[in-house]
Amino acid sequence: MNTSISEQESTTWLQRISYASSDDHKLILAVPSLFIRDYVSSQYKDTIETILHELTGESVTVEFSVQKSEEPPKSHVPKQTQYHATAAAIPHPKAQKRPKDPNINTSYQFDSFVVGDNSAFAYNVSMAIAKNPGVSYNPCLIYGGVGLGKTHLIQSIGNYIQDHTPELQVVYVTAEMFTNEFIQAIGEEKTPQFRHKYRKADVLLIDDIHFLQRKTSTQEEMFHVFNNLFEANKQLVFTCDRPINELQDIADRLKNRFTRGINVDLQPPDFETRLAILRRKCEGKPCHISSEVLDYIGRSVNTNVRDLEASLTKLIAYSNLLNKEITIEIAREQLKSTYSMSKDQSMSIDSIIRVVADYFNISPYDIRGKKRTKSVVLPRQIAMYIARTITDFSTTEIGYEFGGRDHTTVMHSVQRVEGMIQSDVAVSNSIQTLIRQAQSYKREK
Ligand code: ADP
Ligand code: MG
Repeated sequence: MNTSISEQESTTWLQRISYASSDDHKLILAVPSLFIRDYVSSQYKDTIETILHELTGESVTVEFSVQKSEEPPKSHVPKQTQYHATAAAIPHPKAQKRPKDPNINTSYQFDSFVVGDNSAFAYNVSMAIAKNPGVSYNPCLIYGGVGLGKTHLIQSIGNYIQDHTPELQVVYVTAEMFTNEFIQAIGEEKTPQFRHKYRKADVLLIDDIHFLQRKTSTQEEMFHVFNNLFEANKQLVFTCDRPINELQDIADRLKNRFTRGINVDLQPPDFETRLAILRRKCEGKPCHISSEVLDYIGRSVNTNVRDLEASLTKLIAYSNLLNKEITIEIAREQLKSTYSMSKDQSMSIDSIIRVVADYFNISPYDIRGKKRTKSVVLPRQIAMYIARTITDFSTTEIGYEFGGRDHTTVMHSVQRVEGMIQSDVAVSNSIQTLIRQAQSYKREK
């Protein structure tokens, strides 16, 4: 079992655990909330037990118990941010419904957010905040590159709270809107009204705080809004397009406020998640796009979800306008100009074919061609195997590059070469050599 735990994991999760009690081979650990108990127990229980076993030579069972003590366990996280007394943003039972914030787009919901390894942590924390605003994760900072779902998540928090706890006043703004409103308020001598709007929020959601760089007086105002709400145990959530320490010209005291609670990042989705997102976006739409083409989009567009959506929309529009079924070739052509991403950075099939042809002393033309003689078939299969192993191309794309062969031919070749590698050390060594050559061929280019 892998018992290593990254520093990031340790800071976010493990430092929130403390010793509670122990008894014959059982260790009870205190955690501050149900959410943390469930997460830590599913992710780390086995690892902790294994480490304890290694340290003590005994088998020790670990259990977690939720303890909302006034005296939180020692942690790097400042005291208040760990878990406020639940009086936080919880509304009074007879409180009135608050008007919904018109800046929150109701189409951003947790339900429509496709969760992958890249976003599970940010999603879970956002959901926990939406269910218990002001209680466990306060303030929260969500950061990540453009188009990765920051606005979707922060607005999902807003929508969820407005739907489930309508007594809470939710306020959503982008940092840009906040800045403009502030400037306008100064111009019209309405700063008291401006302050009142923000100070009456129970949940304040501020998107894209990187916009505050170099805006000294807006930063100052934001600092006061922050302190005011934070001291009143109101929930604060921010998003930023980069880690806070990479921001330029933001006052340290404000940076320090933004990061004092929980910090979660959104990474670009992996292939499986990209495909799941594409499938979800096709649901309920008249979209005649085959799963092969979806697979192609998922493999080629690997920058962010916004580009993924845009590619799909473009192909659907193309298909509807021309009343044509989208083929891989059309998709390739249409997306080439817009999103020609990782493939040029990654290994090209062409360089693999050259290296293999060279090794077997045949021409690249033969490898792509129709000849079925033994001296050509094996090199061709090996080249397909290498392409499949060291690149991100799908079997369909590889088939296309190998003279328009079917993806089943590629699959068959890969299986055959795998069988040979397993049964013959010499073949295995040659293929390893070829892979290294193909990789250095690419570097020299
Ligand atoms: P950001 O604010 O980080 O730039 P957005 O939240 O605006 O990104 O996301 C861009 C688009 O991608 C939006 O239409 C959003 O709904 C969609 N999107 C992003 N992440 C996901 C996801 N995990 N599942 C479904 N849609 C997503
Ligand atoms: Mg955004």
